[in-house]
Amino acid sequence: MQTTTDKSFRDLGLDSGTLAAVHQAGYETPSPIQAELIPIALSGRDCIGQARTGTGKTAAFMLPSMERIDPRRPGVQLLVLCPTRELSEQVFHESKKLSNNRLQIGIAVGGRPIHSQIRALENGVQAVIGTPGRVIDLLRRKALDLRGLRIVVLDEADRMLDIGFRPDIERILKACPKKRQTLLLSATMPEPVERLARRYMSDPEMVDLSEDSVVVDTIEQFYVTVDEDRKASLLLRVLAQEKPSQAIVFTRTKRGADRLFEKFSRRLKSSRIAAIHGDLPQRKRDRVIRDLRAGKLRLLIATDVVGRGIDISGISHIINYDIPEDCDDYIHRVGRTGRLSSSENGRAITFVTLAQGSELTKIEMRINAVLPRYPIQNFEPFRRPERPKRRVRRFGMA
Ligand code: AMP
Repeated sequence: MQTTTDKSFRDLGLDSGTLAAVHQAGYETPSPIQAELIPIALSGRDCIGQARTGTGKTAAFMLPSMERIDPRRPGVQLLVLCPTRELSEQVFHESKKLSNNRLQIGIAVGGRPIHSQIRALENGVQAVIGTPGRVIDLLRRKALDLRGLRIVVLDEADRMLDIGFRPDIERILKACPKKRQTLLLSATMPEPVERLARRYMSDPEMVDLSEDSVVVDTIEQFYVTVDEDRKASLLLRVLAQEKPSQAIVFTRTKRGADRLFEKFSRRLKSSRIAAIHGDLPQRKRDRVIRDLRAGKLRLLIATDVVGRGIDISGISHIINYDIPEDCDDYIHRVGRTGRLSSSENGRAITFVTLAQGSELTKIEMRINAVLPRYPIQNFEPFRRPERPKRRVRRFGMA
């Protein structure tokens, strides 16, 4: 992945206070999305940025937004909506780092006591980062007043729509002043995102960095064909062969994640395994993410909603135990490794049953690459049909 450009942060029009904060954060050169998006956002224009997590997009929208709000005026001027609590917290921490105490920043997420969030708002918070559900709740209680808002950011807009936040997003946008700046970030640009953008944005400029870097090139990607009932043994075999420093294993369902966790924590007799999904209490989710970040976990079993957007640089392996239901999820999952802040190459291995050949083909078409078969020794991951009636054609692409 291209992580640097020939521009410097100074070339982007940022003020000296922001440049000092960027320097303190240890960023030397802007990433491509930062180089493209920052000047547009600073000019006050609406902007759609197509870039995945891990490319530096948080700073791309936060740096110009923070500069465009008035630090002397109390009250919410900037609202950032994110699909999950984890992502909100990540954006919150990154923003605090980048604001250098020049602004009051608050968080509005479910699973946390609402009263402390209300108190922070009463104390004059100027930027709020949160999930649509809690933001609506705060609006209903009249604790959050968006009348003085100047900028709204929709981060991971595609995922927010996927998990059913459309009515909440529309309600929030309707509560915002018409005269405002809207920035929309999305790894993919499906029709519902475009519709949302057309309806709520004014003549947005497009920044598309997705084409050549749909999946970063520091990731080696493979597929392996496997029978459903041999997946667990295959996973054991892959782990033995790869010896990952840290791996995330993605399942499609919460129950699937729990079942796999039970099986593996028993078999591997290890406390360095955890599962994370939307049904776990917030406290537990926080602990798991903390442990992962601290390197205490070697294996995290996760579903898409929670696994997405997690910014952890030490992940060496992504294993798609269940092939993702849609191609964009593949990109998001695999984006958990080979991240900007990681110096090592990552590996992604996708388990595919014979019946899922066409799903793999769709992913390959989306990432514009044909995945090689994962080399596995002394293991027959699926029972070959003795006399196949027809050949199983895996590739739809020539
Ligand atoms: P994001 O895509 O916003 O989740 O950022 C991914 C990671 O890259 C975070 O850990 C950031 O702190 C880091 N990062 C963002 N911008 C830069 C930059 N220009 N130089 C180095 N690291 C960066």
